[in-house]
Amino acid sequence: MKKVIIIKYGELSTKSDNINFFLKTLKNNIDKKLSNIEHEIKYDYGRMLIYTDDFENSVDKIKEVFGIHEIVIGYLFKEKDIDFINEKALELAKEKDFSTFKVETKRSDKKYPIKSPEVSRIVGAYILKNLNGKKVDVHNPELIINVEIRLGEVLVYFNDGEKGLGGYPTSSMGKGLLMLSGGIDSPVAGYLAIKRGVKIEAIYFDSPPHTSQMALKKVKDLAKILTKYNGEIRLHVINFTKIQEEIIKNIPNYYLITIMRRMMYQISALVASNVNAHVIINGESIGQVASQTLKSMQVINEAIRMPVIRPVCTYDKLEIIDLAKKIGTYETSIEPYEDCCTIFVPDHPVIYPDLNLVYEYEKLVDFKTLMFEAIKSHQVILINENDDEKKYEDLL
Ligand code: ATP
Ligand code: MG
Repeated sequence: MKKVIIIKYGELSTKSDNINFFLKTLKNNIDKKLSNIEHEIKYDYGRMLIYTDDFENSVDKIKEVFGIHEIVIGYLFKEKDIDFINEKALELAKEKDFSTFKVETKRSDKKYPIKSPEVSRIVGAYILKNLNGKKVDVHNPELIINVEIRLGEVLVYFNDGEKGLGGYPTSSMGKGLLMLSGGIDSPVAGYLAIKRGVKIEAIYFDSPPHTSQMALKKVKDLAKILTKYNGEIRLHVINFTKIQEEIIKNIPNYYLITIMRRMMYQISALVASNVNAHVIINGESIGQVASQTLKSMQVINEAIRMPVIRPVCTYDKLEIIDLAKKIGTYETSIEPYEDCCTIFVPDHPVIYPDLNLVYEYEKLVDFKTLMFEAIKSHQVILINENDDEKKYEDLL
């Protein structure tokens, strides 16, 4: 009898049109996750089986992979004789603590001579006979003994699996560019996008010397936490100092943020197109700050045509914080280094910006040239899950 890890797909299995692509992507993602552990993966439309000797570490790693509904340990054997199945089911059930149970059988080997309900009945009766004090409860059993008669093998497992992260396999939906600041919201937004199968790259607007090296380090650290879910992340660092200084010098104070964010959007959209990303993702949440009123979002969004996804848009701050804690970004996000948005916040930023005024103000600075300069000199940092900070490689 061989112990295996069973991966159940959940929502994935409803994607009948391109299920092959999804499963291949899921397999690749798990392969990458388990790159340091010897393993072999086999799969069909029903489930994925992972063969390894290191169950504990493998399951821990697989719990970080999207596109998985449930992870459960199962037992495989080749002998399909019903007496043998009875013995094995009994041997495995003996290890479990339960008083009520039922047997559920699936028969993907349609040539197997005994139909599924009959297999369940036979195995159930055998367990009742050989284990004292157990009762069958078909509605609410403590233990479910699953028997799957497959081509060339039988698989037995119980209802003791661990929940997977759900969602779609990362990168199965294409690429998005995450506007990653050092705050609490944007890493959570990134996580939620990754969960729906979006492979992310990240962009950070840096304003040295107004922002410190530590602020950039914090963003790298956050990106690194997200690599756990996304795999390698390319972090695009844009030097935003000049643009920001020109805005502060030339634009009326209460429109600073509106225009600054329109510039961030435009640069993000250009970088996104360059890296074949289809959408921008950010951590905006309705009403959280002046630039996130619906009217502000409309006026800021007007600067670009690329769609912007805002996964935490309808979340309360407390909900975002809960999720940040769960995914492990919270402690890093609350480190005290300020980013470029927090240092120049005016006292009374406009809440209902007027688009025509924005157009007029934007004529006061040659933003086009400044934006192209910023993009031309931008830095790309490759962030890997397993490497430590020193190995970050600057790819100019
Ligand atoms: P966060 O907690 O994610 O920093 P926030 O509530 O502080 O968000 P803002 O500063 O208005 O809100 O920013 C809204 C969103 O814009 C952020 O969630 C992030 O996606 C993006 N953003 C803000 N500043 C930067 C930056 N310096 N670099 C990249 N993206 C940024
Ligand atoms: Mg912020």
